[in-house]
Amino acid sequence: MTGRKQLTLVSEEKMDEMGVAAFASLKREGKLSQDGAVNQYVICVTKAILEVVPQEYQPDDGRWEVLVFEDSTPNAFALPGGKIGVHSGMLEIATTPGQLAAVLGHEVAHVLLRHGNERVSQSILADATVNAASIAAGAAAPAYQDMIVGGLGVGAQFGVLLPFSRKHENEADQIGQIFMAQAGFYPAEAVTLWQQMAHQGGDAPKQWQSTHPSDQTRVQRLRANLPRAMQEYEAARAAGKDPQCEPPPDEWINPEALP
Ligand SMILES: [Zn+2]
Repeated sequence: MTGRKQLTLVSEEKMDEMGVAAFASLKREGKLSQDGAVNQYVICVTKAILEVVPQEYQPDDGRWEVLVFEDSTPNAFALPGGKIGVHSGMLEIATTPGQLAAVLGHEVAHVLLRHGNERVSQSILADATVNAASIAAGAAAPAYQDMIVGGLGVGAQFGVLLPFSRKHENEADQIGQIFMAQAGFYPAEAVTLWQQMAHQGGDAPKQWQSTHPSDQTRVQRLRANLPRAMQEYEAARAAGKDPQCEPPPDEWINPEALP
């Protein structure tokens, strides 16, 4: 998708398997939102994004699963194997369907671009105890399970909140913005989203600020990518794409969290 050469030591099947297992444990440990309107809304936006994902990148069984977690941290993540999680706190920053589409496009792009696999592979290589034979035998070995889970980016702090490397973030921003445009969401909303994220950094925990040093750069990049994204958007609209996803009622959103 980017034409860049990638180091991926773990099979896609293994990544999918780990993604599915990690999601199952998040489901067991987390609190799922029971709010019908919120769930419907998130599913509507997610579906619109997933419809533009090329066939070759769809999960083996063709099915994606998206769940809303009751969690005030503004986060969202996507895992290999077709699993997507959105925290309720994310909807306080991504306040429109287009902004949520920007978040989901970005997270789905990380999965399709195999960023988790690259991150896992780098940590396997960096492990001094590893030799060529054990790599060949064993990215699937039990010793690597923890590394793979870490590389997948599972857990409360991964996803939007704890970004991948700058290179991976750039790629996910660009491809994610194209996805949202192809789905019929106005791509300038990605710019607004990240501006709101940067604003959120003002009184958010230190961790947020330290992991988001380049929000300004990101906003500039997304602006620079706009002409290309607008072409996709106009083509999508001309083809009749106009996703109608109804955000949950206003009273649900915490007004204090709004910029
Ligand atoms: Zn990211």
